[in-house]
Parts: sequence; structure tokens; C-alpha cells
Amino acid sequence: METIITTSVKKAAEFIKKGEIVAFPTETVYGLGANVFNEEALKKIFLAKGRPQDNPLIVHISNVDQIKSLVKKITDSAKIIIEKFFPGPITIILNKNDVIPDLVSGGLNTIALRMPSLELTRIFIDECGVPLAAPSANLSGSPSPTTWRHVFDDLNGRIPCILKGPKCSVGIESTVVDCTKNIPVILRPGIISLEDLKKFFPIVKIYNPHKTKKPKSPGMKYRHYAPKAKVILIDSEEDFLRYKFDKNKAAFIGFIRVKDFKKSKRVSDLNDYAKNIFNFFRKCDEEKIEYIFCQKVSEKGLGLAIMNRLIKAANS
Ligand code: AMP
Ligand code: MG
Repeated sequence: METIITTSVKKAAEFIKKGEIVAFPTETVYGLGANVFNEEALKKIFLAKGRPQDNPLIVHISNVDQIKSLVKKITDSAKIIIEKFFPGPITIILNKNDVIPDLVSGGLNTIALRMPSLELTRIFIDECGVPLAAPSANLSGSPSPTTWRHVFDDLNGRIPCILKGPKCSVGIESTVVDCTKNIPVILRPGIISLEDLKKFFPIVKIYNPHKTKKPKSPGMKYRHYAPKAKVILIDSEEDFLRYKFDKNKAAFIGFIRVKDFKKSKRVSDLNDYAKNIFNFFRKCDEEKIEYIFCQKVSEKGLGLAIMNRLIKAANS
């Protein structure tokens, strides 16, 4: 299959209208989208990515009016998030309407909804005329794509079209919040943090996947965010110096950290870290790096989301 790369929203939307899949930019990571109501098109997403079918997709909307037709009920917790954070890098989970194909929800009775803040994404969804169900536009198991080049590297020849847009400004996937009950539960941390949500809710919970057998957010059980190298998390330069390498082998080493170990709490540093982490993992793969040392950050604000991705990469 030939993969067309275009900056034309109209041209890309033609593919969606024909029942095809298209990779498109958002502020978090690039998505691989299909018409949410077209089962044949949805199947192509799983095929192109090599994604297990019980891993659900996020439905991307361009307008809050579209939510009514997708869910059973908009709960009070959802209403607050929609009002305070939409459009933005946050996804809400609600009970789904029966018209939603099972492939979208991975067999769950819930649906994930997000309205991206990148205007280009909303213009694209508008042009398609339907909400787009989309996971990240990478091969299953590799780091999420934050540039159109990353999408091309993973999916060239496997998808018909890439809508070319800017490098993702956030760089990690959206915060996912279960809003089916009145107390919101963070299923996946992101740039919209626990602290941000607490400004509008007396209680916010964080879901702990180790406490239950059946993960609430099925994607969390799969290998994720992983470069080919061994990922080692460190607190200091001394930790790095103490690391014992295999003496018989030359080691190629990658190193990602904020500018100054001692000032790791600066917000702009954390934003930079998040924005570059997946790009860095991909570069390390290209350069055949064998060990990647990543500086741990404090699990506050965006730090919680960064550590979530780092721990997954280190445990893969
Ligand atoms: P990706 O964009 O590739 O990270 O994939 C979307 C992710 O959204 C999934 O892996 C899940 O973690 C999450 N998700 C989508 N739908 C649901 C749902 N109904 N309930 C819980 N989590 C969901
Ligand atoms: Mg993904």
C-alpha cells in the first residue's frame, strides 16, 4: 500500500469518508483514526498497528454537542471536566451508547472521549463529519509517535494517509479520567494533573492497577512506551557511575535528564522532559543504543505522568 503524506485536511478526510484510516496530529501524540461508526474501518486500525482487539480506542470529537449521541448519560463529574478542560489533553470515560461498535470500547460498556486542543485536529474531524476513534499512530508496543516522521517510520506501507502537522506540544498521551461515577478516578496520568483536577473536585482518586486482577483501562496491561534498549531509572549522576555494565561488551549509552539534577522541579523542565521522551527513545533505537539512563523526577504535577511512562519503559 502506498502511504500518502499530505497537509491537506480535505484530502485526508476523503480517506475517512471512503472507510479508510488516517494518521493525524494532536497536541498529545499522533493518532490513527477511523469513522467511529464504521466497523470495517475500525478493524483496519488494529491490523495496521498489530493491536490486540480488547485494547479500546479514544473517540476524538470536534464539538461538545457530539457527546450526547455517544454516551448514555453525561455525569456531573464529566460536566465539570468538559467545562473546565475541554478542548485539551484529557480523556473522559462514560457509559457508552448502544450504537457504538464493540471494537471501539474493547468489549467494555464504556467509551473514552476527548476533544483535542490542536485546532488543526478539530478542523480535520469537522471535515470528516464524524467523530474519529483513534489510538496512538505507532506499531503496538513501540513508543508513541510525536512527529509525522515517527508515524511514517512505523506505518509506511501499512496505512494509506498521514495528515502532516506540527511536532506534538505535549508529547505524552492524554490524562484518562473515569467519570462514570461522581468521584473522578485517574486511570492514566497526563499533563492535566491530579493537582489540576483537585481545584474543581473535593476528592479525586488514582486507579491502582496492582490492586485488581482485571485492569480498568485495558491498555495498561500491554507492553508499552518501550524502546529496544534497557531502560534504567536513576536519581543522580552517582547512580549512573555505580551501574555495573557487562565488561565483555562495549556499551552504547543514552542519557535523558532535566538540565540540573538539583532543580528538577521546575515546570518548564518537566514540560520539556515529557515533550522529548518518546522522541529520545526512538532516536536511541535508531542509533542502536543499548542502555538508556533516565533521571527520575518527583511524582508531583506532570512528574507523575513522566514517572508512569518511565517505569513502564523500564519494566518492559
Ligand atoms: P492509546 O491512545 O494508544 O493510548 O489508546 C487508548 C487508551 O485509552 C487505551 O489503551 C486505554 O488505556 C484508554 N481507554 C480507551 N477506552 C477506554 C475505556 N472505555 N475505559 C478505560 N480506558 C480506556
Ligand atoms: Mg498507544
